[in-house]
Amino acid sequence: MCEKIRKFAKIFTEMNYDIIVIGSGPGGYVTAIRASQLGFKTAIVERENLGGICLNWGCIPTKALLKSAQVFKYINHAEDFGLNKVEASFEFPNVVARSRGVANKMSKGIEFLMKKNKIDVILGNAKVQKGKKISVEKDGQTTEYSANHIIIATGARSRELPNLPQDGVKVIGYRQALTLPSQPKSMIVVGSGAIGVEFAYFYATMGTKVTVVEFMPNIVPVEDEEVSKHLEKSLKKAGIDVMTNASVESLDTYGEGVKANVKTANGNVTLEADIVLSAVGIAANIENIGLEEVGIQTDKGRVLVNEWYQTSVPGYYAIGDIIPTQALAHVASAEGITCVEKIKGMHVETIDYGNIPGCTYCLPEIASVGLTEKQAKEKGYEIKVGKFPFSASGKATANGDTDGFVKVIFDAKYGEWLGCHMIGVGVTEMIAEAVAARKLETTGHEILKTVHPHPTLSEAVMEAVAAAYGEVIHI
Ligand SMILES: Cc1cc2nc3c(=O)[nH]c(=O)nc-3n(C[C@H](O)[C@H](O)[C@H](O)COP(=O)(O)OP(=O)(O)OC[C@H]3O[C@@H](n4cnc5c(N)ncnc54)[C@H](O)[C@@H]3O)c2cc1C
Repeated sequence: MCEKIRKFAKIFTEMNYDIIVIGSGPGGYVTAIRASQLGFKTAIVERENLGGICLNWGCIPTKALLKSAQVFKYINHAEDFGLNKVEASFEFPNVVARSRGVANKMSKGIEFLMKKNKIDVILGNAKVQKGKKISVEKDGQTTEYSANHIIIATGARSRELPNLPQDGVKVIGYRQALTLPSQPKSMIVVGSGAIGVEFAYFYATMGTKVTVVEFMPNIVPVEDEEVSKHLEKSLKKAGIDVMTNASVESLDTYGEGVKANVKTANGNVTLEADIVLSAVGIAANIENIGLEEVGIQTDKGRVLVNEWYQTSVPGYYAIGDIIPTQALAHVASAEGITCVEKIKGMHVETIDYGNIPGCTYCLPEIASVGLTEKQAKEKGYEIKVGKFPFSASGKATANGDTDGFVKVIFDAKYGEWLGCHMIGVGVTEMIAEAVAARKLETTGHEILKTVHPHPTLSEAVMEAVAAAYGEVIHI
């Protein structure tokens, strides 16, 4: 073979993979690692930072900010713990810098994991092409790669509403909210899903006057109504104004701050603030990635897939925020693992989307899984409900964090654990018990007979279950 042909053959093999993943968020990078573990020659393409939204602009940097807020609050309440009174103070840019540092460290960690798992990282903007190929554009140069299987995990961005156009300065999305150069004195947060209330809590705790405007009758609308109502009370107690059944109709950004025209049940009101944070959901990154050219079907802004994440075109798959399942990091990762294990021909279970935990990390935190009480009733279940307040928990009392409760819902007939809803400090670390128990099709009886360690917050789960069956001890 002449040198030229040999070179060409080498380049061709290098550019040809078993699996190419587009996007390196918790969907993409986890998929790539699992693919590599399964022996596939794998490449991942990323146009921005390894780790995607979750590590760089979502889950992780928000939790870093929230931790700063929590520490700030604890210091300011030192006397509650028998310590001398201290006035905590801070420089806002340092709080932001810590959060960015945490995000960067996590992103570097993904770089390490890619190397460790021998995954080729291709930097650039990818587009899928016909014939199981992709093109990657970087600095004006385009390179083609091919693979037996192409997995699209391009994620999502902040959704823009026509009446809430984001200018990135006065009307911002989550990216700017994570990196503001200075702390606003006042802020209107539009939307009270997890992202909205986490930012509302962070800014309010640090001293910003925050108003939350929610279109639905309850904040955190996907949660059990009792949890939503309890959080509303807690946020109000923390000094946050909460408006429900209210919608921002228009914004006036002329002049110093922003004026928001808000429609309420009692007529329109004008709110004024330094800044408006739009937290009204996400829009999937489906544009300009070649879907139309290849013929991959989408619906309502998301890529359509079957239960194995195959798109309408064989050889092309999609996972994570780009498909119409819950937009959560752990869902994206689970979908990616399921997708490649199926490609490998393993015996794989489909994901049970009814058993996905959801967490919100304001204080008190929220964690839930399964049906809400309302949903269980609507589905026709006869139910047993148990509730245990953290005010009756020894550990919560010792911690000085007694706000909140655990609520459990069982099917009265067969004992199926239908739902678990918690609000309180630390509950996001507790919900996995309910998820695992439900996965194992455990009934209340097994939870009651599972000895929980004392003193822990997790005892509240056992006690809530006991309450559902009339056996509660501590209330
Ligand atoms: C503020 C905030 C807080 C959040 N907190 C939580 C939380 O606490 N828990 C939780 O579970 N979820 C949370 N989420 C949601 C979570 O971040 C997403 O569900 C998750 O990141 C989705 O993962 P993904 O892999 O689908 O996409 P993403 O993480 O969005 O990653 C997609 C990647 O693809 C890249 N990409 C896009 N197009 C191309 C292209 N054409 N070529 C190359 N690369 C491309 C992007 O640059 C990006 O890096 C939060 C989100 C936000 C915004």
